[in-house]
Parts: sequence; structure tokens; C-alpha cells
Amino acid sequence: MALLVLGIESTAHTFGVAILRGRDVLANVRRPYVTQKGGMVPVKVAQHHEEEYEGAMREALGKACVRLEDIRLIAYSNAPGLGHALRIGAAAAKSLALRIGVPLVPVNHAIAHLEVAALVTRARDPVLLYCSGANTQVIAYDAGRYRVFGETLDVGVGNFLDTLARNMGMGFPGGPAIERLALDAPRKDALVPLPYAVKGMDVSFAGLETRLKRMVEDGTHDARDLAFSAQEHVFAMLVEAAERAMAHLGKSELALGGGVACNRRLQEMCRIMCEERGATLFCPANEFLVDNAAMIAWAGLLMHEKGGIAVAVEDATIRPYERTDEVEVTWRQ
Ligand code: AMP
Ligand code: MG
Repeated sequence: MALLVLGIESTAHTFGVAILRGRDVLANVRRPYVTQKGGMVPVKVAQHHEEEYEGAMREALGKACVRLEDIRLIAYSNAPGLGHALRIGAAAAKSLALRIGVPLVPVNHAIAHLEVAALVTRARDPVLLYCSGANTQVIAYDAGRYRVFGETLDVGVGNFLDTLARNMGMGFPGGPAIERLALDAPRKDALVPLPYAVKGMDVSFAGLETRLKRMVEDGTHDARDLAFSAQEHVFAMLVEAAERAMAHLGKSELALGGGVACNRRLQEMCRIMCEERGATLFCPANEFLVDNAAMIAWAGLLMHEKGGIAVAVEDATIRPYERTDEVEVTWRQ
């Protein structure tokens, strides 16, 4: 019977616990940190994770109908992310591994987003457009690593949307609120001109963020038009960078990852681009797009079974600034 693996996610806003039996996701519990107003404060996020740990563990074991002692492998997200938040997940994973005496696998969160796309869709060798809160990268496998072909030069696209929402007086996460506002925009042709910054395969949102902040303060535009126009601009930038990477790499699959990829308009733009170039779009269900522990468990299982990766408890560290391409991919032929 396939191995039972427990995954823990805690890079940023979400504390998650998942249990997989091989490819089967038995439980994928998510406890996100949210606010009514204002953004994420790292120490408060860590406090949230600590408080949610026990409940999330019980819920995952209950849903999966397994006992902790049945688990054979523990995977945890060790990078990249908020140090305060990562530490809670790592401490939990280490104490569990000690308690039940099973191998421990540290997993890079961005790589987990890519691996889970191959688990839950038929993607084989995709270019991943990874758009989450802090991270925005175009990633693909080449010569033993997941290489970053393009990325944001400043803030992540999710942070950009969250900041826009915060400036409009809304809480965290702001992306879904911006999507709802954009859908309500009275005139779809009311595109407000904004900076469009694609540099090679990299993108930049900081200038756009400042311009929008000023426009919100000035009150000269309808918030719905600003939300709509912001989305049209940043999503077009992302699609352009992803398409350029696909063209240069000769890859014909695009996979989506990260919370911002839940956005229907972004999905639609990616679908149109793929159709136009004869490529295929693979979009996991929302539960596997946002930060989740199932992807950590799955990547950990692959890394352990195919790449022989495990660390001793005393060597299980966190690496808040680790980049996607620093990890040697030993589990993939
Ligand atoms: P992640 O860190 O991958 O879980 O992604 C979190 C980010 O996704 C936050 O910045 C959210 O605002 C953003 N997000 C979630 N849902 C949506 C959506 N429907 N449209 C745009 N952004 C979203
Ligand atoms: Mg993420």
C-alpha cells in the first residue's frame, strides 16, 4: 500500500496540514489568517499558526481516518517565506518526527506549487506561472533544476492586489475583493491607462502600485474601474512574460499556481494565450492553487521516494530567502 505522508505548510498567511496516501489526498486542512482591515503582521501570523496547529492536526487526522502513528513520512515547507511563520511549521514537523520516529523532508514552497500541478492535472513538463502574495515567477524545469525564467523585480502580484485593496479600505486578502469590484465595473471599455512594465521576462508592479495609490487618494476614478484596469494591466504583463518563456523554451504546457491564479480573468487570459499558440493550459482546483499543505506532502513524497531526500531533526532548518533554483532536483529524470 502507498505511503502515508503528512505535510505542513506555514510559509505565510496559511497554516495547513494535509495527509496523502500516495497520490490520494485524504485531508487538506487550511487555516488562513485574515483581517477586516490592514495587512499581515508577521508576529501575528505566527501567533495565528501556533493557535491553529492543534485543531488543524486533529481535523486532518480525523478527515483522513488515520492515527498519527500510521504516518510514515513528514514534509514541511522550509522556504521561502516569513521567518516567524516558517518557524512554527518547522517546530511542529520536527517534534512530530521525533515523536513517531519517521523521516523528515524540507520542501521549497514554490517547487511544491509546480509539483502539485502535475499531481492534480495532466501537465507533464509545464511552464509554471506562479503568482501568489509575495512571489511572482515564471518557472520551468531545465537541466536538473527548476529555473526561474522571469519574475517580479519588486513586489509579488498578490501583494500588489492586497495593497490596492488596503488603500481602498479593505482587509486581507485583497485579491478576491479586487476581482469582485472588477466584475462590477459598469463599463468594460473604461480602461484607465496605467504603467505597463515588462522588462524581458521580468515584471514590475511598484510604479503601478504608487500610481494607483495616488488615484485612490484623489478620488477621481470609480474604484470598480480602477480594480478592473489594474487587473487588465498586471494580468497582461504576466501572460506576456509566461508566453515569452514558453516560446523560448519550446514548451507547450502552461500550469498555474498561487492564490492569484484563482482569479477567473487571469485564467481566461492564459487560456486565450494558450489557444492562440496551440498550447495547453492546466489549472488546478482552487484548493491546490492557494497555499496548501497537500502540495507540500506531495512534493515531500516525491523528493523522498525518487530523490532519496530526508534530513535529521537537528538539521531541519528554515530558509526564508531560498530561491527556487537553489534546490537541486534529484527526484526527476
Ligand atoms: P498564496 O500565497 O499563493 O496563497 O496567494 C495569496 C494571494 O492570492 C493573496 O495576495 C490574495 O489576495 C490572492 N488571491 C486569492 N484569491 C484571489 C483572486 N480570486 N483574485 C486575485 N487574487 C487572489
Ligand atoms: Mg504560495
